[in-house]
Amino acid sequence: MNDAAKAALDASARARASASASASAGPVVYWCDRDRRCANNDALGRAMELANERRVPLVVAMHVGTDLSGSGIGGARRAVFALKGLKELDEDLRARGVSTRTTTGSDVAGGIVETCETLNASAVVCDFSPLREGRAAREAVARVVEVPVIEVDAHNVVPAWVTSDKQEYAARTIRPKIHRNLGDFLTAPQALDDLIAAPDALTPSETDWDALIDTARVKGAHVPEVDWIKPGERAALAALLDPNVDSFLPQRLTLYGERNKPTSPRAVSRLSPYLNHGQLSPRRAAWEAAQLRGIVDDEAIDSYLEELIVRRELSDNYCLFNPYYDSLQGASQWAQDSLSLHARDVREYVYDYKTLERGNTHDELWNAAQKELYHLGRMHGFMRMYWAKKILEWTPSPEVALQTAIQLNDAYALDGLDPNGYVGCMWSIAGVHDQGWKERAVFGKVRYMNYAGCKRKFQIQDYVAAVDAEISGIGRK
Ligand SMILES: Cc1cc2nc3c(=O)[nH]c(=O)nc-3n(C[C@H](O)[C@H](O)[C@H](O)COP(=O)(O)OP(=O)(O)OC[C@H]3O[C@@H](n4cnc5c(N)ncnc54)[C@H](O)[C@@H]3O)c2cc1C
Repeated sequence: MNDAAKAALDASARARASASASASAGPVVYWCDRDRRCANNDALGRAMELANERRVPLVVAMHVGTDLSGSGIGGARRAVFALKGLKELDEDLRARGVSTRTTTGSDVAGGIVETCETLNASAVVCDFSPLREGRAAREAVARVVEVPVIEVDAHNVVPAWVTSDKQEYAARTIRPKIHRNLGDFLTAPQALDDLIAAPDALTPSETDWDALIDTARVKGAHVPEVDWIKPGERAALAALLDPNVDSFLPQRLTLYGERNKPTSPRAVSRLSPYLNHGQLSPRRAAWEAAQLRGIVDDEAIDSYLEELIVRRELSDNYCLFNPYYDSLQGASQWAQDSLSLHARDVREYVYDYKTLERGNTHDELWNAAQKELYHLGRMHGFMRMYWAKKILEWTPSPEVALQTAIQLNDAYALDGLDPNGYVGCMWSIAGVHDQGWKERAVFGKVRYMNYAGCKRKFQIQDYVAAVDAEISGIGRK
């Protein structure tokens, strides 16, 4: 590993708990939760480094909880995508001589503690999540295991705690903090095999991934899988870089200037499910895009890096420092006051959850966006803003609007249950990271969007027809 990569790896880690030095000579356990990939995974890298230093084996622990059993929110769509990715990860780790252990059940922390205790682990390395369930599970593990627990942020290019120690006001305040650290963290991808020491001699435990996938399909049948995207780390790298599969880099990045036109779907990366499921490293994606200077316009590269790094990491910052990241209480005071002043304004249309879920409103554009979400598990980024803002306009109160948008997004989006989703809904409905705009009914000072604005930007009928065509294709298959 080069010095820059080594320095970045060290700085990505922080001690979560440092219990009295353990006498155990047991393995180092990497608890793989949010970052489910072999390559370009600083948490796995740190765990391997520690195992090498101590001359003990490395074991990767995974837990298949309610969310991955299919019965959680997101159904089979999210669960099978995740499980297929974990199956591939398991095979790739074993091929490199690294053992894995999988536990199941509703108690994530309990499963990980059980693995650590059974193996008499000497240290635990976990990845990072700013969301409350992920944080609570990490805290619970750190409280119980009597060995050092090291947390590594493998999900942000610049680790969240290096960027800032407080909630950032907006992109303009976090941007300089990220950029000042990019030189240290946007380093060349490391070769994983360089890190692996002696193969581990522990008895491998077999996980029946196919049985878990079958169960998830049955339990999660209410939200079926989608077939426009292939799960797993290899498919993620191909979607980023392999020209044989119409990858995003380099050719589609040249179209990035058109990213706000839902009628130009090739202009956006559609990589968010891979980033969300930890199957693609954001640092790898950013590094590869940055290598295209001189080949692709700087403007396209800079805009992509702004979304991938600044906007995405602003979301993690918000969820890390704001305990109310998914409720109106988390909004700025100006937005809370303004929304509450307009909470009783007369709404021209009011729809219940079922009508919205089925995409049965009076607005064909909104319905198309909702059907894209419901049937395909995705929605174009520009439409997501319009979609959430109309939910504010068409539900009885801002509280119901926020809850509805989050519920629909988490239930159907393949990239849901993510800081970007909570912040996207909070930005659209509660003005988070935005400023106050001209006051109007229902929205108060929260930024407004309307059908006429969309009509000026793109051919609405083309977008509606494209969604319809893709959905009727599902029916035919
Ligand atoms: C109401 C609403 C809900 C959203 N829900 C989600 C969600 O559940 N999961 C999710 O990952 N994103 C969500 N977003 C943010 C954004 O719309 C998606 O990240 C983007 O559309 C994903 O498509 P892409 O990968 O083609 O994006 P690209 O245009 O290719 O962008 C590159 C990457 O940058 C990041 N990114 C892009 N836009 C944003 C943004 N506005 N905020 C934060 N990061 C961004 C994503 O990781 C994305 O993959 C939401 C936005 C809104 C307004």
